[in-house]
Amino acid sequence: MMGRGIVFLVGAGPGDPALMTCRSLELIAGADAVLYDRLIPPGALDGAPEGADLRYVGKRPGQAAMTQDEINDLLVDLGRAGKRVVRLKGGDPFVFGRGGEEAEALAAAGVAFEVVPGVTAGVAAPAYAGIPVTHRDAASAVAFVTGHEDPGKADSALDWAALARFPGTLVLYMGVRNLPLVTERLAAAGRDPAEAAAVVERGTEPEQRTVTGTLADISGRVEEEGIRPPAVTVIGTVASMRETIAWLERRPLYGEVVAVTRARAQASGLAGRLRELGAEVVETPAIRIEARPVRLAGIADYHLVCLTSPNGVRLLFDALGDLGLDARVFAGATFAAIGPGTAAELARRGIRPDVVPERSLAEALVDALASLPVEGRRVLIARASEARDVLPAALRERGAEVDVVPLYDTVAERLSDDQREALSRATYVTFTSSSTVRFLLEAGGRVPESARVVSIGPITSRTARESGLRVHVEAERHDVDGLVDALTGDAAARRVPAA
Ligand code: SAH
Repeated sequence: MMGRGIVFLVGAGPGDPALMTCRSLELIAGADAVLYDRLIPPGALDGAPEGADLRYVGKRPGQAAMTQDEINDLLVDLGRAGKRVVRLKGGDPFVFGRGGEEAEALAAAGVAFEVVPGVTAGVAAPAYAGIPVTHRDAASAVAFVTGHEDPGKADSALDWAALARFPGTLVLYMGVRNLPLVTERLAAAGRDPAEAAAVVERGTEPEQRTVTGTLADISGRVEEEGIRPPAVTVIGTVASMRETIAWLERRPLYGEVVAVTRARAQASGLAGRLRELGAEVVETPAIRIEARPVRLAGIADYHLVCLTSPNGVRLLFDALGDLGLDARVFAGATFAAIGPGTAAELARRGIRPDVVPERSLAEALVDALASLPVEGRRVLIARASEARDVLPAALRERGAEVDVVPLYDTVAERLSDDQREALSRATYVTFTSSSTVRFLLEAGGRVPESARVVSIGPITSRTARESGLRVHVEAERHDVDGLVDALTGDAAARRVPAA
């Protein structure tokens, strides 16, 4: 017998991928099939297994959408066929998502299902606009209302008089086109025309826009600003709280589009920091780290161990681990590290480096090691296969017996058309190493004319200049934090100061 099928009715949240639930990601990662709509966050399906059956069941311009009955039947069929099916919908599946109908169909057919709530747009979009849908002093209730139906029709499911009297916030979904009629109806039924109102377009997405006004003038404002679906409308005193609580637009990198070119495996720290500061981050990895088989001999005899990148630390200790060894083989050795990131990676493995030069350069490390006796001593330099000769040459000159162990290759990553397009919108392009510069340009990545180039340090800057780029910002501290600080400082300096 086939495995028992099950259908998950899953909310994907309002658009910001970071607002997808853990459960939704876990289920997508284990799905045989995913049936999804238009309003799901970008990248929502990235975690689906290779070979999963991914089907778009939403509306397509110029093409008949699948009817709800057809979708219900498909869910039932897939469930009966023993599949693990994720039915992925924007926001929450049971808030104007027709998830209720799908659950009914599954229940009637005897197909097992589970419901995974999502963050609904009617709460999230206002929240990102600085509007709390309830407030102890201003709104003790909130109503979710569909603005979809024709308010002119006689048998409207909406009771306008009741909505006008409703003692709290009204949140309208799907109502952009009908907004003039809806607001008129509410006012005619007795809702205060001076009550605050706001419309949030594409809430929680990088393109989020908000317009505010009153019940009387909000539809005019929406028209003026050319607001388009998807948008939610908030009617209630809470809408005016945006004036004090708006936070999104006040973040230091709001409105900036920052390209991150470092290897995908390492991009998340930088990307996360930038997003937290309000930037839209586009990941256009130019490079990838490929580990090399590592040969280590006489490890215990090294007098000095030099590491030049966090990757180097990671891969060296991986190699040790493969040999069944750990940090104790280095007991007594002096450790030198280039860059605070490298030092931090070592510290994570219980080793506090003895020498970390102020500037993150091989030359600076050579200087910092000047007083360490190395003559006749064994030195390990574990690093990328392609690196400058400065450090080994200087140590050899001083009579050290130097082993340079190449741990990894830095190889080019291809750019997809989407990534190229995203790069063309960048207002900042960040480079965290010379190889990110070289490989991005080699992959045909174009740094837009108007974008500002941010480099992690002098070597990277030099490579960028040699490649014909203008470097606008160079980090003072040559690590991710230093780069983020420099970029943020530049953005602040370029902002028109508030009048
Ligand atoms: N189930 C969804 C709602 C589906 S109805 C949820 O719980 O959020 C579609 C309507 O949701 C849109 O017309 C719009 O009113 C609202 N909506 C969805 N995503 C939105 C977003 N990112 N910003 C503003 N409104 C959104």
